[in-house]
Amino acid sequence: MSKKAVVAVGALGGTIAMSAVGTGAVKPELDAEDLVAAVPELTNIADIRAHSIANVASPAIVPSHVLDALAFARRAVDDGAVGVVLTHGTDTLEETAYFLDLLWDREEPLVVTGAMRSPNLPGADGPANLLSAVVAASSEEARGLGVLVVLDDTVHLARLVSKTHSTGVWTFRSPGWGPVGRIAERKLRLMLKPARMFDPLPVPSADPLHIPIVQSPWADDGMWVTAIASNNPRALVIEASGVGHLSEAAADACEQLMKDGLLVAMVTRTGSGTTLEHSYGYPGSEEDLIERGIIPGGFLTGRKLRVLLHVLLSSGADVDTIRNTVAGHGR
Ligand code: ASP
Repeated sequence: MSKKAVVAVGALGGTIAMSAVGTGAVKPELDAEDLVAAVPELTNIADIRAHSIANVASPAIVPSHVLDALAFARRAVDDGAVGVVLTHGTDTLEETAYFLDLLWDREEPLVVTGAMRSPNLPGADGPANLLSAVVAASSEEARGLGVLVVLDDTVHLARLVSKTHSTGVWTFRSPGWGPVGRIAERKLRLMLKPARMFDPLPVPSADPLHIPIVQSPWADDGMWVTAIASNNPRALVIEASGVGHLSEAAADACEQLMKDGLLVAMVTRTGSGTTLEHSYGYPGSEEDLIERGIIPGGFLTGRKLRVLLHVLLSSGADVDTIRNTVAGHGR
């Protein structure tokens, strides 16, 4: 009898692990063993080693959960796993996946999945997502691609994926780019590979950092900028309009914050595409903002840029390193 490859499954919680209690509303209940036991077909794909890392909903996830998941995944690979799957709530899955992607220092695939429908609902997608994630994690072709997000039989790079719909099972998309592969007949069909991979960043401390993300509104008076400063943030991420534009009032207020030592970075609030650097030249334009010191996030979303800043700041990176790293990862 041929020995199957080992895939480790680490559970963190989310809808995939929720059961109805009392009123019928669901909350995290099921552990890693339960999730694996619900999909007997997994044993045809791999020898599964299940482990519960945490059992929380997305909003409760903090950096220490991500570092625990990283340690679990590294240990699993050191013990011989060919790949690792993490289950996670979908609401903040993209941040955890990107956080791990910045740190993952192995060739073995690290795949994050979850579910939009809890196990008690008709058409629950958790079992199918777990199966597809294990297929990807055990696939030779997925090696060296960093962290992948697999739901709805669709394979995304962690660095590009976003949750784009509050209820649809197809919610995970890579806006502006698209998925890199699909799962069909229990196989990974990889279509695309990233042109660039990044060196893993130093593992940060588990301490949370206060880094607000603010979306600049229409007719922006910039009042929010000063309000935010009163809470002593470590950095500020602005979702600016278009290719990186603010009203002059908001730009002036940001300039003052930067003079006071705050790191300010921006992305486009459109949901996809990049910030530009030299296309518009009016006060509050991207060229003006960059000139004043705001770091442009390129193709990164605000959520991704915040995670990147978190990792860099909490491992003590200086401003030049931050500027260069954001430029590289956002390009
Ligand atoms: N709706 C969420 C999920 O799909 C809940 C959460 O993220 O924890 O898992």
